[in-house]
Amino acid sequence: MAKIKVKNTLVELDGDEMTRVIWERIKDQLILPYLDIDLEYYDLQVLERDKTDDQITVDAANAIIKHQVGVKCATITPNVDRVKEFSLKQQWKSPNGTIRGIIGGTVFRKPIILNNIPTAVKSWKKPIAIGRHAYGDVYRNVEFQVPTGAKAELVMTTADGKEDRQLIHNFAKGGGVVQGIHNTEQSVRDFAQACIAYALDQKVDLWFSTKDTISKTYQGMFRDIFQEEVEKQKVALDKAGIDYFYTLIDDIVARVVKHEGGILWACMNYDGDVMSDMVASGFGSLGLMTSVLVSPKGIFEYEAAHGTVTRHYRKYQQGEDTSTNSVASIFAWSGGIKKRGELDKTPEVVQFADSLEQAVLETIEGGEMTGDLVGLTTTSNPKKLNTFEFIDAVEKRLKAKIGG
Ligand code: NAP
Ligand code: MG
Repeated sequence: MAKIKVKNTLVELDGDEMTRVIWERIKDQLILPYLDIDLEYYDLQVLERDKTDDQITVDAANAIIKHQVGVKCATITPNVDRVKEFSLKQQWKSPNGTIRGIIGGTVFRKPIILNNIPTAVKSWKKPIAIGRHAYGDVYRNVEFQVPTGAKAELVMTTADGKEDRQLIHNFAKGGGVVQGIHNTEQSVRDFAQACIAYALDQKVDLWFSTKDTISKTYQGMFRDIFQEEVEKQKVALDKAGIDYFYTLIDDIVARVVKHEGGILWACMNYDGDVMSDMVASGFGSLGLMTSVLVSPKGIFEYEAAHGTVTRHYRKYQQGEDTSTNSVASIFAWSGGIKKRGELDKTPEVVQFADSLEQAVLETIEGGEMTGDLVGLTTTSNPKKLNTFEFIDAVEKRLKAKIGG
């Protein structure tokens, strides 16, 4: 069977531990036998980052900017224990943070829905994607503990030296705490643009919320900028049949749990931190959560939302059987390949990615799955497969589909 030609380069970022093991199998069994594809490979395993003083991560991010699409395996973010474990020169920063810093943009997380894996929330039938504004607010705060008798004020000094001040609180009767937070117009605008780009790409409605009734200036700016950006894209949004819905954060939370899904929920930084964990656990397994970094300039990086699954890797190293879910990693590959095909205008490449995703869904819906899903499924007598048997089962279905 002739391989399908992928016109332009896809950037591949390899990673660590159990996901690295899975990553290679996916590539060898589910991708390379079917696609004639130019992969620009960057090895982001922690030892390689250490060896190159993290230059490899920077190079990989720049390669994604150059080629527009990348796929990434999960990587270790070293902590003190990891520095010891691998004798690292230093506690290197999170690769995802470094890459996001270079590419810019927003991370969107989306669950994979299966008809035999029920969601914890009855009404959820379609994915709820979450976009978190990952800049500023409480995550870049400055704070003081305030002693009794102190007075806290907010002071802003303009470029020409004028001071504007407001009393925050007079701590005359007892001490307390005070904090300063900020955000920038540009960052919120980039976030709004990335959310609109994602909604257009995925053809889903866009929901956004703040608490602008309480924070009229600060959170009000978020609301206004979103509105402006939505108006700029009105023609495209109307044409795609996409609605923009704005309401208060507490109202949106109440609505989300009663909604069927199929939306992008754009969240301010703290809301996204909290709500993405709620939505992820409501949809089932971490192994079913995908993640994509979308820059407002149209650059895409796909990955699984979970980590390197260290606990399973330790077993694997001991020669024990593991049953690690590879679905989110497979969907990282299919997501990147699909986007490559869309940008290159090669429908046969998009179709291959769809077939691969279908093969995964049919495998699980047919009752064959990894251990994490066995406890969740409505299928009676599901067949629990180990890490490698699951990939083999997907390969078998993919072969049957493509006629290889
Ligand atoms: P994790 O790798 O996501 O795993 C946590 C637990 O979740 C696992 O022990 C497992 O539970 C379950 N799990 C996650 N993914 C699974 C899958 N595909 N199939 C089956 N079960 C799955 O998080 P972690 O153990 O906290 O972190 C491990 C390493 O990953 C750390 O070094 C961290 O820095 C890194 N990390 C990287 C990324 C990234 O690159 N995007 C994200 C997060 C963490 P059971 O053990 O109960 O089966
Ligand atoms: Mg969180």
